[in-house]
Amino acid sequence: MFDSLSDRLGGVFDKLRGRGALKEQDVRDAMREVRIALLEADVALPVVRRFVDQVTEKAVGQSVLRSVTPGQQVVKIVNDALVEMLGGEDTPGLDLNAAPPVVIMMVGLQGSGKTTSTAKLARLLKEKEGKKAMMASLDVNRPAAQEQLKVLGEQVGVATLPIIPGQQPTEIATRALQAARLQAVDVLLLDTAGRLHVDQQLMDEMKAVAAISAPRETLLVVDSLTGQDAVNVAQSFSGQVDLTGVILTRMDGDARGGAALSMRAVTGKPIKFAGTGEKLDAIEVFHPSRVANRILGMGDIVSIVEKAAATVEAEDAERMAERMAQGKFDMNDLRGQLRQMQKMGGLGVLAGMMPGMKKAKAAMQASGMDDRVLLRMDAIIGSMTPKERANPALLNARRKIRVANGSGTQVQDVNKLLKMHMEMAKAMKQIKKMGGLKGLGALFG
Ligand code: GDP
Ligand code: MG
Repeated sequence: MFDSLSDRLGGVFDKLRGRGALKEQDVRDAMREVRIALLEADVALPVVRRFVDQVTEKAVGQSVLRSVTPGQQVVKIVNDALVEMLGGEDTPGLDLNAAPPVVIMMVGLQGSGKTTSTAKLARLLKEKEGKKAMMASLDVNRPAAQEQLKVLGEQVGVATLPIIPGQQPTEIATRALQAARLQAVDVLLLDTAGRLHVDQQLMDEMKAVAAISAPRETLLVVDSLTGQDAVNVAQSFSGQVDLTGVILTRMDGDARGGAALSMRAVTGKPIKFAGTGEKLDAIEVFHPSRVANRILGMGDIVSIVEKAAATVEAEDAERMAERMAQGKFDMNDLRGQLRQMQKMGGLGVLAGMMPGMKKAKAAMQASGMDDRVLLRMDAIIGSMTPKERANPALLNARRKIRVANGSGTQVQDVNKLLKMHMEMAKAMKQIKKMGGLKGLGALFG
């Protein structure tokens, strides 16, 4: 249904055969296509602009992995930035850390799915969290609205506040709080009224209810089909009440989920749930990576690049292993190791890694090193000439001063690094004596 972004990017990058770093003009060309993809996914224009600017800055100068094209690499960078912007990998659940009854207030435009989502959440709370929930509809504008919630409540087996005709939203809220206290309810869900468009009366009503009920969660319910208007909706609601999160409904439809990015960018609040159907169990925790995939439509490419990255790492590790088997270990190898360590989470994970690393770790810790040291050591090696890297013995006093100056460190830092390298090289030699890689098993016992 949509033009493939990868086809478009393929065109942009056909002329590029070289490897190396992504150049600014190439990234800009690619971003033009990304921009169209985002607009097609209904991300609001101001959000698209901001996103594209940020990602362009991030992408320029990044190196292109072997075995992927620059276009694919850009897609991966865009995808990662999308996931990040959509909230990263861990999604926060509902915050229920307050004295019961904990109030959850649902706000949003009419038809966005507030009432349905209220019943869905009540069901989740009851079934998954074992909470005693109660729901109350504050929608006095539409005659059938309160009745609708009552019916849904019966379906999910959650109590609703008895309807008293003629009451105002604040009166209903007060009554709901009293009832919830009396009945030892854990969580009270308030389903507020919506209008077709944002208006001040709706906002004032919402604020008054919030003032009375002090909601722990104020969730903005948004239809994922809300396109360019998403920014307006998000801005007006977040300007009036303290939103704590967003629920995106109708993710079962063919919307590509651009509203998610707009909501997140404008409110800065996490998207907590996605509605995925009319049925009352059709709600799930929001998954940024799935939605990023949907927005870009580029899941295949992302996994290609991830695989390529893994392959490169595996190749590096293999090369290392070979050199170790030969008892070789120069500054380039050390640098590779340092970078690997950084990627894997710094010094803390060292112990289990390679033989020799255990000693190195002990040596590093003894001299009071922390993770910043990895970066500094990398800089020191970067200031060495290729010859010095291949043969560190060349580093006499004069050269050490040059390297220290070049890397903004002290000669004693250079010495520490050289000492560490010697220790590790020695360990490598031992491995060789023990019969190369085959002897490694002995080290691990
Ligand atoms: P409200 O006006 O904001 O309270 O919206 P409602 O909860 O009454 O929902 C309006 C319509 O949208 C109803 O027909 C719901 O069944 C439907 N709806 C709500 N959430 C979803 C969803 O996640 N997926 C689909 N397909 N329909 C939904
Ligand atoms: Mg409703």
